[in-house]
Amino acid sequence: MFLTVHATVGAIIGDKVSNPFLSFLLAIIFHFIFDMIPHGDKALSCFAKTESQPGIISADKFRTFVKAAAFDGGLVLILILSGFGFQIFKNPLSVAFGIVGGILPDIAVSFYYMVSKNIFLKKFEQIHAFVHEGIIKSELPLKIGILMQTIIAVILISIVIMY
Ligand SMILES: [Zn+2]
Repeated sequence: MFLTVHATVGAIIGDKVSNPFLSFLLAIIFHFIFDMIPHGDKALSCFAKTESQPGIISADKFRTFVKAAAFDGGLVLILILSGFGFQIFKNPLSVAFGIVGGILPDIAVSFYYMVSKNIFLKKFEQIHAFVHEGIIKSELPLKIGILMQTIIAVILISIVIMY
């Protein structure tokens, strides 16, 4: 799912759970729970899954991926800065830990593809991919997935603002 969704879930957890480490842990668990839901962004992934060349990407797919990631990452940054700037959180430290826990799994997977083929990162990538595709095996079309994720994000952001 988009980082916007994962970061917002992390912020909600952090604001409810005052212990930063518990918030961090719960946000990671909820990352996987949300990733289990079919969400249609498989088409945006530009990383080839072949065992021999896991980092090989096509230039076209990469361009689309960078656009989506820049939009998603930019939105996360705006939301985080707004949340902290307007001081809407009761537990800011815990919220920060929740946001980091919420987005860390996807950062670790990107790190595996782009930077390091470390054995722990590889195992983590496999678990992440299994949760994504191996538990609920249906996938939504990209447009439906983006619409669904946008609705989820709007609901979650409303929860952050109102509660
Ligand atoms: Zn993920």
